[in-house]
Amino acid sequence: MKKTLLVLASLALAGAAFAQTFITFGSGGTTGVYFPVATGMAKLVNDANIGVRANARSTGGSVFNINAIASGELQMALAQNDIAYYAYNGTGIPAFEGRAVKSIRAVGVLYPEVVHVVARAGAGISTIADLRGKRVVLGDVGSGTEQNARQILEAYGISLSDLREAIRVNPNNALALMQDGRADAFFFTGGLGASVIAQAAQALRVQLVQVEYARVQELAKKYPFYRAFNIPGGTYRGVDVTTPSVAVFAMWISADNVSADVVYNMLKATFDNPEFKAIHPNLQRFFSVAAAVRGLPIPLHPGAERYYREKGLLR
Ligand code: GLU
Repeated sequence: MKKTLLVLASLALAGAAFAQTFITFGSGGTTGVYFPVATGMAKLVNDANIGVRANARSTGGSVFNINAIASGELQMALAQNDIAYYAYNGTGIPAFEGRAVKSIRAVGVLYPEVVHVVARAGAGISTIADLRGKRVVLGDVGSGTEQNARQILEAYGISLSDLREAIRVNPNNALALMQDGRADAFFFTGGLGASVIAQAAQALRVQLVQVEYARVQELAKKYPFYRAFNIPGGTYRGVDVTTPSVAVFAMWISADNVSADVVYNMLKATFDNPEFKAIHPNLQRFFSVAAAVRGLPIPLHPGAERYYREKGLLR
């Protein structure tokens, strides 16, 4: 009898020690920046032995990720700050109009995501206005990129019916269509140096098309999240000029039902780990814990609140 109790007790202890929380992290296409960043974050979390098994999943992007948090398919994700705001408030873009997602919480702001408009050299596209009559990849289904593409075309008075073709495919397929000459340009909202654009610039002669901040500002009331951002010359092979564009921000978001302890411990395992910034050059260049909590478009997760408060970053 005693022995059985002892065995049961030690099993219970072992169970407690190995209790795991499983976190599936939504990212984006495999040739974007979300995917390598989320993969790197999941690794740091797993290596920290904090009772969390995290894994990164390739997805369509911000809109998909937020809907999948709402449905419980994902527990955490990367998403654009503009899209998170529209989702939480049920306004701004058709995907969330009247369908607010109140279960998303902010964990931290990571790095700027720049609207890249990549055109095949020789396709006769040097301004956004030139996209009229062209075959344009707007982004993947469920991407934040697609929403930015629509808004920017709107800012230039271009509707989707003015395009010869409005294509929705993931970045890998966008690249393939460009290489086959079946697309003239593609949009991608993502961190500088994204592999899809680097690969396009390796494989083809491309140019980056300017997006004028002043133009986009005219829509600022409707879409207040854009900031002016220059894509430095030399970021991509063969594109030596600096290209003015606009940017939003990549955020780490969580479902509200992930426990505060888990979020807090995950933040310690990532942001406090010197290896965090080494995950990606965009983190190296743009990330700081102080900036991570600035200008959040949705409420902070309680576990994140505890983390930032301990650092003296919240009053
Ligand atoms: N921001 C993009 C989106 O939500 C994804 C960027 C990436 O994959 O790095 O569509």
